[in-house]
Parts: sequence; structure tokens; C-alpha cells
Amino acid sequence: MAPLRWLTDPPTPARAVAGVRRRWQQRPAWPRRWRPRGQDVVLLYHRIADVDEADDPGGMVVPPELFRRHMTAVGDWFDLVPARDVLRSHDRPTAAVTLDDGYLDNLEHAAPVLRDLCIPATFFVVADALQPEAPEYWWDRLEHLLVEPGPGADRVRVTAGPHTLDLDLATPESSRRAYDGISAVLQRQGHEVAAEVLATLEAARPRQPSCARHRRLSAEQVRALAGEELFDVGSHTCTHSALAALPGPAAREELTSSRQRLADLLGEAPELLAYPYGSVGAVLRRNARDARSAGYRAAFANVAGPVEGSSAFAVPRITVGRWSLGQLHAAVTAFRQPA
Ligand SMILES: [Zn+2]
Ligand SMILES: [Zn+2]
Repeated sequence: MAPLRWLTDPPTPARAVAGVRRRWQQRPAWPRRWRPRGQDVVLLYHRIADVDEADDPGGMVVPPELFRRHMTAVGDWFDLVPARDVLRSHDRPTAAVTLDDGYLDNLEHAAPVLRDLCIPATFFVVADALQPEAPEYWWDRLEHLLVEPGPGADRVRVTAGPHTLDLDLATPESSRRAYDGISAVLQRQGHEVAAEVLATLEAARPRQPSCARHRRLSAEQVRALAGEELFDVGSHTCTHSALAALPGPAAREELTSSRQRLADLLGEAPELLAYPYGSVGAVLRRNARDARSAGYRAAFANVAGPVEGSSAFAVPRITVGRWSLGQLHAAVTAFRQPA
């Protein structure tokens, strides 16, 4: 396995001491030696839906019309291959398209565009979310509880793992700040911590438990997508927890059990994994080792970078937002050698 450059292990006492010594010595910071260069990239989208930016507090939505423009453009700029093939070496700039979290809008709005343009894509789905009665993801519930107007307390104190947050929900602006604050914390926690936060908020601010726009793909729909030549389904774990926050056995279970459940559904075990949140701090080196032991062939992160030189178990991805074609072009060519 190539070096997992941005992945780290938990701090050991020796390392903590070294950190203190470094700070104490106040040495000037050296420029980073490792500047990844390459022309192959993996794009990451979440939801493809007609949702205004103001109603998208997590910044997860790209409207279908814009998604079509993005896909048309990347089809002009790159050879597009399935994510499982992006790690091979290519003569021409090559890209792969991935969509995380398995929202129903992936089938309704993304798949038709991809079929029209004949673009392969991998959908990373969360095994628990395929259950018919599965609750919405915590960030969607949080949107209902904090951003949606309605009755309930203006001030709520929540405990999220080691953090206690006093939330000011008196105005739309302060509520939005509360949403951002809790989201940042929960992206580094396991699902049980998120469930506790939601239970506290639900007691203080009753809201509808679900809605049409946050619906996810059913198991049957995932199977149908996986049956299409252009498409592929990968694992995004069972519970969408930050693996780094889980004890070792629980983190391994997320990887093995989701793979087995998808194998049962699809008749074939998924080869690819996408780490939930996929950021530095949400994934540890040991999680990458466990992904390999679990039988995956590659695992994808949410850290921008080129594919070249990356480990197969920490493949960088560029998380795409509501970008103009100029912004998209700048992001997907950012790692090429300067002319
Ligand atoms: Zn909802
Ligand atoms: Zn995700």
C-alpha cells in the first residue's frame, strides 16, 4: 500500500510530547514538501435536486440543470471511467464521477443525465439507510429541527460526545449558525452521538420526522441501479459514522457488515468504499488498513487531490458544489504541473 499521506493515527503520548516540544521551540514552518501533482481526478456529488441555495444549509445539493452542464463539460475535458478504473495509469486526463449517501434524487435526476451522456458513475450507499423505516440522516433531521420555522424552545443545550453546545435558536441567522456548529461537531462523531443530539432537540422542538425531499433509494432501487451497465454501487458503511470516532471492532464491523449486506442485495460484494465524511480527522490509518482487510479494492476520501500517487485506500475526491464551469475547471485542473 502506498503511503497514506494525509491519514494519521491517534496521538500517542510520545507524539503529544513531540508536539509540545515543537510548539515550544517556535521553529518556522517549512513549506510542505509533498505537493501532489497529477491530472486524474474523482468528482464527488451528493444530492442532485431543484433546491434553492437558501434551503440547502449543508451545501449538498447541485440542481439537475447545473449537473448536466458539469457532466457535459467534464466529458469534454476528461476521459470518463468507472471509479474502479481511475487508479490505473492513463495517457489522457481521466476522471470518475461518484455520488454519496444514496438519495432518491440520484435516481430521479442524476441517473437520467448520466445515461444521456453515457457517463459511468458509482453510487456509495449507506446500508442502514436502505431499510424502509430508516430515519432521515442526522443532518437532514437537523435541518428540520433547527432551520425549519416552528414551535419550541429558543435556547437548547445539547451534549455531543465531549462537547456541550448552547444553541441560540431565536432568529434564522442564529439558528443557521447553530446548524453549522453542530454539523461540524457531528461530522467527527459516531451515529450514537448524533442520535443523542437529535433526541434532545426533538424533545425541545417538535417537527415532522421526515419529508419527501430527503428520501433515500430503496434496496430495490439500489439493485436496479447496480444492474445498469454504466453504474456501480459501493459501500458507504452501515451507519455513516466517522470511523475514527468508533472503537476498532465497531469500525471494522461498519466495513465488513455493509459489504456483506450489499453482497446479499446485489449478488456480488462491492469492491469500493467511500469513508463517511472522508476528511482528515474522520478517518485514521487503521481504518484504511481495515478497509483493505475487509476485501475492498479501493477506498475514497473527501480530500481534494489528484489520483496519481495516492494510496488505493485514500483516493482523493473533489467535492463539487454549485459551481460555475470556470470554478469547476479550476478545481479539476488544480493539480496539474504548472506550465
Ligand atoms: Zn426531511
Ligand atoms: Zn456521506
